[in-house]
Amino acid sequence: MPLAPNVYDAEPIPDAARAEIERLLRSGDLFRYTAPADAPVTLLEREFADFMGARYAVAVSSCSAALFLSLKALDLPRGARVLIPAFTFAAVPSAVVHADCQPVLAEVGANYRLDIDDFAAKLEDDISAVIISHMRGHTSDMDAIMALCAERDIPVIEDAAHSLGTLWHGRNIGTLGAIGCFSFQSYKLVNAGEGGILITDDPELAARAVIMSGAYEHNWKKHDGLQDSFARWQNKLPLYNMRMQNLSAAVIRPQLAEVERRVNHGRANHDYVAEKLNACAFLDVPPPLPPESRAPDSIQFNLVGFDSDDEALAFQEEAKARGVSVQVFGLSRDNARAFWNWQFIEGPLPELPKTRAMLMRACDTRLPARLTRAELDHIAGAVVDAAEAVKTPEMRAYGT
Ligand SMILES: *Cc1c(COP(=O)(O)O)cnc(C)c1O
Repeated sequence: MPLAPNVYDAEPIPDAARAEIERLLRSGDLFRYTAPADAPVTLLEREFADFMGARYAVAVSSCSAALFLSLKALDLPRGARVLIPAFTFAAVPSAVVHADCQPVLAEVGANYRLDIDDFAAKLEDDISAVIISHMRGHTSDMDAIMALCAERDIPVIEDAAHSLGTLWHGRNIGTLGAIGCFSFQSYKLVNAGEGGILITDDPELAARAVIMSGAYEHNWKKHDGLQDSFARWQNKLPLYNMRMQNLSAAVIRPQLAEVERRVNHGRANHDYVAEKLNACAFLDVPPPLPPESRAPDSIQFNLVGFDSDDEALAFQEEAKARGVSVQVFGLSRDNARAFWNWQFIEGPLPELPKTRAMLMRACDTRLPARLTRAELDHIAGAVVDAAEAVKTPEMRAYGT
């Protein structure tokens, strides 16, 4: 059997980053607001906004910081109720709590997307803002969501941390809501170790986010095109100091040119493995919604006909024995994507039977864009073999 592929190593950072990092190391010019103009972070903001087709971008220390600042920029009252999907990363309810708001969880279906009926029903329950988390790059029905929220004048923040390069009706994800937030943490499409950015077309939201990110005194003058808005907010907002530093921007900027290739390879890899998994009666990879063009760097699939948690756990073990790490979201201990582990949320744990059922059989495995066909074959083969080893051990005994 060939060696199992390593799915954890990152791609090298493009060589183009080296000269700029060397220049920054020599000059010690690491703070974004030291240079009078054109600091690497400022250039990144301009390039990222253009790349996405948004008017403004604010680079910060993480996507969690971007989500927090988005909520603060909306100026929600203390205790405001923010509707979020029950299937997301713990960073999302954490940002809501950090902003002194109350997370309200909406059901997510077996296809990893928001249950629109439950979403619409919960939207009626005194909701002030919505965060849509495109979890693992899966896009919920944004047409329905944006229409429901527009009718009620409820602002939508998109958590596109893991969705850079995803399109909805050909439009960049992250540009549909009032604000879109992205991550540059190492497991995302663009890797700076840590980092985040938010985009918006609204000058007031942008100005408020810039000041609260830590543009103290008149540092906001180094952000273009918002001067009137900034003057209005001077000294009126707290400074949370969540700025990005220049070294991060130097690592990120040359990777923007790599996004299209990574997206295309990631999607091709995903679809290649998805077809092989869907050919197995015990595995199901839900299809994308018709308006959605995905940018995956991992694959999610459901175990079909696995009646007990023990069977699902046995599958995890069989896959591991074949060198492939598969996580059943709800069966791995303390998983940060299982809503029952978000015990920092005030109040009783909500009943979310659909999301819970999905989490108990939904599997997650990494599938980075750099993998070769042989490596993809290894992963797909191991996953199918593992499912068959659990569900049809007798056939395998006779068949081989
Ligand atoms: C990674 C991730 C985040 C958090 O991003 P950080 O930059 O690590 O704060 C939030 N939401 C989703 C869906 C993510 O995948």
